[in-house]
Formats: sequence, structure tokens, C-alpha cells
Amino acid sequence: MRPHSGNDAAVGSRSDDPYALMPRHGPLVDRYARVHDDLRISVTDRCNLRCVYCMPEVGMQFQPPAALLSFDEILRVAEVACDMGVSSLRLTGGEPLVRKNLVNLVSRLSKVGFKDLSLTTNAMLLTPLVQSLSDAGLKRVNISCDSLQSERFNAMPRRGDLATVLVAMDAVEAAGLSPLKVNVVILRGQNDDEIIDFASFARRTGRVVRFIEFMPLDAQGQGDKTQIVPGREIFERINACWPLRAIDVGGSAPAERFTFDDGQGEIGLISSVTQPFCGTCNRLRLTADGAIRNCLFSDNEFSLRDVMRAGASNEDVARVLRQAVWEKFPGHAINEPRFLRPVRSMSMMGG
Ligand code: SAM
Ligand code: SF4
Repeated sequence: MRPHSGNDAAVGSRSDDPYALMPRHGPLVDRYARVHDDLRISVTDRCNLRCVYCMPEVGMQFQPPAALLSFDEILRVAEVACDMGVSSLRLTGGEPLVRKNLVNLVSRLSKVGFKDLSLTTNAMLLTPLVQSLSDAGLKRVNISCDSLQSERFNAMPRRGDLATVLVAMDAVEAAGLSPLKVNVVILRGQNDDEIIDFASFARRTGRVVRFIEFMPLDAQGQGDKTQIVPGREIFERINACWPLRAIDVGGSAPAERFTFDDGQGEIGLISSVTQPFCGTCNRLRLTADGAIRNCLFSDNEFSLRDVMRAGASNEDVARVLRQAVWEKFPGHAINEPRFLRPVRSMSMMGG
């Protein structure tokens, strides 16, 4: 374990104190010197779709409303996090747009001072709200869409329809929320025959299509590694049609970005399983019921809801955030035999 270098603000000397070397000021840093400036807030664990890689078709259990953070509580965590150097905030879920009055939350969060404020959505409810969201201060939207074939919606998201998603994409751009990113989870034998169609869609529309490897985080626990289509394979299939050129942006973005060699369009590969990017991870998650998670794959959680409802000060909230980051593991063990699925599935954590 490598202690954080430049730890001039560290206090405490008892060797049994796990936080003895933890900085008390400055950015949110872990024991491996990774600075955390990206917070994903899940505003609900509920959803209007049932994507095969995320939830069972029936029987999903949801949190009771009283267990969820209120908007005031979400705002409070956001303000403390912003003061600690978090600059990027993404709202997610479940499906964030099923939470009532989300525009109001966006409006309040937009005044906190984040550089980036974005939303990940399945777009079913987006079109009538998109202008209000933009007016409220939302800067960017990622839309999830796993097929460009309308009949496949019965098989993959199981509910919803493609036409609604495509209309929403146009509405997002008309509201000036660009660049629009389109998230596609590729599953072997289900939609991997659409990789080239999605690449062509990226070229035609200028929307950034991001191909995401399936992660074993489905609530039903049925997904297995045979369903994963490695990012490398996706690269090779597209590159054989239209040569790709890497965009070297450095930093901690999970997606490897590529332009087409003729300059027409961009794609991203998020190879969380076959090429983990843990070494540069800068993310923290706040679940809808108020737990801070430092990794999708770790069950190490810190309940800010319980702390806040017990009367904590902002300093207490900040300390929990700091401790959560400090305890982060160097990387997930998803490719190792000792790997255990986390107790919470993707939609319960906020993807
Ligand atoms: N409901 C919204 C949506 O689908 O965009 C936001 C929440 S969803 C959990 C966030 C992202 O996680 C989506 O792009 C979705 O495709 C992705 N996702 C969900 N389950 C996944 C899994 N098992 N493996 C990889 N990505 C997953
Ligand atoms: Fe809902 Fe998003 Fe999960 Fe699909 S991926 S079931 S849209 S939360």
C-alpha cells in the first residue's frame, strides 16, 4: 500500500487508526494518489424499462420513498463535495427522469458551482422535459440505446420504443445540449450484429457512440462472461470498415476515444472488464438511499443518509466522503477467481 505523497496535512499517529495518513484538507484523494473529482448521484432506483443486462423482467424490489435522499439532502452532499474539489456531477439511476421534479433538483444543483452537470437517461421521458432541463442548467446528456432496430426493444430494454429515443436525441440537440453521447451495451448474440450499424450512426449523426462492455452487475445475477464482447473486438470490427484513429486525451475518462480516419464522427470504447481503468479512476457514487460507494464492484459503503439524519454537521459529511475515498481499493478483482458480485446491482448503485 503506497501512502499518498505530499501528505503534509496528515494528522494522527496511532498505527491502529486506518485514517492516520489521510489528508484532512484539500482534494479528495485515496491511498494511491487518485484524486476524486467526479460524483454520480443516483436519484432513484426505479426505472420504466427492464434492460436484460440490468433488471429482471418482473420482481425487482425497490427502496421505499422514505429511504431515498430528499432533494435537500442531495443538495447538501453536492455542496460539500463541490467544496472538496468535485467538479463534475452526473445524475443517474435507475431512471433519473422517473423521479418527480427533477428539473427543480437540476436548477438547484446548477447553482452549486460544478463545471459539468450531466444526466444519463434511457430517454423515454426526456423530450417534454429537455428544454426545461437545459434552462435549469443541465449541460450534457448521455442517452442509452442498445439497438437501432425497433423490434429489438421487446428483447433488450423489454419496454419502451426506439422512435421515442430517436425523437429525444433530436430534442437534446435542439436544446443545445451537445455533444450528445449514446451509450450502447453490447451483448454477445443479442446486439453484436449492430456494431457496424452503430458506428455508421455515429458517422452519420455526429453523436458519440460509446460501446460498453457488459459488467456482471445485473440484478438477476444471470449475466456471465460469455456475454461480454471485448472492446478490442469491437475496435477491430469497426476499424476493418472505417479505419479509426485514437484521440489521446489523457486524464481519467473511462472511454478510449477514437475518430474515424476521414474525420467523420467519433466513437468510444468502455472496456471496464477486459481493460480496467481503475488506475486512473476519479469516481464516487451516491446511491439513491444515500450511501457513498467508492467503486461499482466493492461493497464498502458509507451511509451519508444515516449520518445526516442523525444530525451531522457539514464537517461530518466531509469526513465521511474523505474516508470513503481513502478506503478505495487499487482496483476491482473482476477477472480473478476470488471476485464476488457486489450485493447491489447496477441500478441500485447508479451506473
Ligand atoms: N436508466 C438510465 C440509463 O439506462 O441510461 C441511467 C442508469 S443506467 C444503470 C446507466 C448506464 O449503465 C446505462 O448506460 C446502462 O446501459 C449501463 N448499464 C446498466 N447495467 C449494465 C451492465 N450490467 N453492464 C454494463 N453497463 C450497464
Ligand atoms: Fe433502467 Fe437504465 Fe437499468 Fe435499463 S440500464 S433497466 S434503463 S436503469
